[in-house]
Amino acid sequence: MKDCIFCKIVKGDVPCYKIYEDKDIIAFLDIANDVPGHTLVLPKKHVLDLDDCDEILYKKVMLTCKKISRHYLGKGFEGVNLVSNCKPCSGQEVSHFHVHIIPRKENDGAKLTLTPANKKENLEELVKKLRIGN
Ligand code: AMP
Ligand code: ZN
Repeated sequence: MKDCIFCKIVKGDVPCYKIYEDKDIIAFLDIANDVPGHTLVLPKKHVLDLDDCDEILYKKVMLTCKKISRHYLGKGFEGVNLVSNCKPCSGQEVSHFHVHIIPRKENDGAKLTLTPANKKENLEELVKKLRIGN
């Protein structure tokens, strides 16, 4: 997609700190440089988000996340967070599906926090509304 920053990286029109590449997937360091090794994993094909991504491609993205995460665990990191924002209300800023790998170490000072939403629902009601099947 013409105006997509990640498509420009895939095409080689914008540089990146590339970690991994194959036929369908690319992974590079997040420019934010906020946590050492913060990596983005994405399909080369422009799909908006996980909802727009077919299952085969989604599986390839997630298996690459596993591959890279295990690689990082072998490089001295002690854990990872995997995060994927889906749609602007969730905080997705780049509308080209991607998963963040955030490598972690004890006492690294990084923190992923979830601030509780404004509304608290009754869990009995919520499970009736949200469950899949019976
Ligand atoms: P999200 O909010 O989940 O859409 O995350 C988008 C991420 O893309 C942010 O963490 C940005 O720092 C990162 N980002 C934006 N432009 C670039 C770029 N040119 N190279 C690497 N990372 C980028
Ligand atoms: Zn794109």
